[in-house]
Amino acid sequence: MKPYKNKINRIRSFALSLIFIGVIVMYIGLFFRKYEIIMLLFMILGVFAILASVVVYAWIGTLSTRAVQIVCPNCGKQTKMLGRVDMCGHCREPLTLDPSLEGKEFDETYNRPAGKKE
Ligand SMILES: [Zn+2]
Repeated sequence: MKPYKNKINRIRSFALSLIFIGVIVMYIGLFFRKYEIIMLLFMILGVFAILASVVVYAWIGTLSTRAVQIVCPNCGKQTKMLGRVDMCGHCREPLTLDPSLEGKEFDETYNRPAGKKE
């Protein structure tokens, strides 16, 4: 298995795992009902993990608008690319920006919704 994933997908799964961690931590806290301070500590930790995931999700939203939408040359599907080098979200094909697109990275035509692009 390749150690790399599409950046946006990777951040998204990180945010998702934060929610799970938060829920699990709060669940563990329920086992310490007799010790209120410990339970409270677990609850606060859980809430922090969930809040962090909300922040990460908001961050993904910001990143997505800056990501370049391209058609993967390998599988032909549309994928969002972040930065100069990224991986296809469908087939994990390593992608790099075409040198001819140099300097046009933030052209707003790349931010149009999927399906509008020819
Ligand atoms: Zn692909």
